[in-house]
Amino acid sequence: MVMTKEERKQYNKKYHQSPKGKMCNKIANWKQKTKNGYGLICENKGEYEYIYDRWLRYERCEECSKKYNEDNWKCMDHCHLTGLFRDILCHSCNMKRQDNSSGISNISKHNNGWLYQITIKGNKHSKYSKDLEFLKEYKIEYEKKYLYNI
Ligand SMILES: [Zn+2]
Repeated sequence: MVMTKEERKQYNKKYHQSPKGKMCNKIANWKQKTKNGYGLICENKGEYEYIYDRWLRYERCEECSKKYNEDNWKCMDHCHLTGLFRDILCHSCNMKRQDNSSGISNISKHNNGWLYQITIKGNKHSKYSKDLEFLKEYKIEYEKKYLYNI
């Protein structure tokens, strides 16, 4: 099928307003490198889509549990040094976050050690350890068990 210029324009417009088009736009936006550092970097397409899905569905901040609104909108929080995903947060919590990431998503510096935090279907889970290597293993096991089996 050959489209005229006008038809092509309409087609593109329609696509960008569709759920899939919106998702692609948002993900492309997250991937953009900025003056602050890296954009979001994931291993594969599925991981970007998973983060988008989480961003889309969650109505409350994963940190402070406040409902998102026009003044305190939802943000995809990631580490600007590594590009790795951390959490979906409200704007206010996102601004408070420093780049104190371990470089591993959901693990950040806390007191004298490291804190792994994840919210799955509204249930918050956290684990503190002074041993980063232990936490990395713990995260893999925990997410294997609960994150991809729901
Ligand atoms: Zn918050």
